[in-house]
Amino acid sequence: KTLTVDLGERSYPIWIGQGLLSKLPAYLQTLGITSSQTLLVVTDDHVGALYLEPVLKGLQRAGFRVFSYSVPAGEQAKSLSYYEQIITYALEHKLDRQSVILALGGGVVGDLAGFVASTYMRGIPFVQLPTTLLAHDSSVGGKVAINHPLGKNMIGSFHQPLAVIYDTATLSTLPEREVACGFAEVLKHGFIWDEAFVDWLEENANPCRALQEPFLSEALYRACHIKSQVVSQDEKETGLRAILNFGHTFGHAFEALGHYRDFTHGEAVAIGMAVAAHVSEAVYGQQGLAERVTRLLSTYGLPVEWHTLPWSFEQVLEKMYTDKKVMAGRLRLVLLERMGRAVIADHVAETTLRAVWSL
Ligand code: NAD
Ligand code: ZN
Repeated sequence: KTLTVDLGERSYPIWIGQGLLSKLPAYLQTLGITSSQTLLVVTDDHVGALYLEPVLKGLQRAGFRVFSYSVPAGEQAKSLSYYEQIITYALEHKLDRQSVILALGGGVVGDLAGFVASTYMRGIPFVQLPTTLLAHDSSVGGKVAINHPLGKNMIGSFHQPLAVIYDTATLSTLPEREVACGFAEVLKHGFIWDEAFVDWLEENANPCRALQEPFLSEALYRACHIKSQVVSQDEKETGLRAILNFGHTFGHAFEALGHYRDFTHGEAVAIGMAVAAHVSEAVYGQQGLAERVTRLLSTYGLPVEWHTLPWSFEQVLEKMYTDKKVMAGRLRLVLLERMGRAVIADHVAETTLRAVWSL
């Protein structure tokens, strides 16, 4: 399946399907990348152990000069230290302004390698080769970043990839918890934008959860499509793009309060979407909306229960006010006016939130 992300003067393709990595050299040639350009594959050691060797072999056979750099798996790789190490490696191996970085991995590798690409010699091209379900989200939109000890994604930029080449065969080795985590964002894209996609995700929950084709590619295609539509209407995050934060204001608070250990991002966001859906129902009176959101999240193996969290409403609220997306001290929440239509709400009363919290 092919999708085009259209960003005014620039656009780039997203290819989704089983076995695409085995045809990687041909895809690169389609993008106009020739064997005169040096390639650097950035990956992590989980993904590298599974998929790096065939990728390198294929590229070498096609005549490419290719190097690879593997970072430890996990969020800690999105650091200034690994950023510097990759830059050093690239300089030592004489990568130049024509070189291309290939990000083979999940959102961590995509963000890190993308940030390297955005700054190496003032910016070189890169291609996303996502290997997680969540990476449908991180590979589309052009946001790349590393973390600072004082905050996640605090050092970053906007750098669009040349293409996203999404080989769904790689997802078969993804740990179950990561699969559920990825579906949290797939479902989010449906909730905020496309009720028909929500219907489809309800009908096809079993084959989707089993990562069965063609359902898997279809789900990723539709979720990427939504993300790219939102992003192309608001590339630099001035307005509309904020709706992508549905469930995230609460979710970020839960992640932070749990010291990024208790929950994965997707789990925290799932509980956040459950809360936000209940707030939406309270504000816009759409009967049954919250029930539908929570049922679907549960079906996809995600938590939705906030009553058992060990934090008070005050603690959660205080954390939400420190979120970088809270502007000028006002709590901006993304709510669902109805299923498939998200809105930014600036004036939800604290009493409404408190009432929902203790429902
Ligand atoms: P990840 O990249 O850490 O991958 C999760 C785990 O799965 C890792 O241990 C990884 O080694 C392993 N893994 C990856 N692919 C695998 C495969 N095919 N088989 C077996 N194991 C595999 O995490 P993620 O959830 O993909 O991404 C999370 C990151 O994405 C966060 O840092 C977040 O900030 C970022 N993100 C960025 C954006 C954006 O717009 N740039 C959007 C959302 C999230
Ligand atoms: Zn998210």
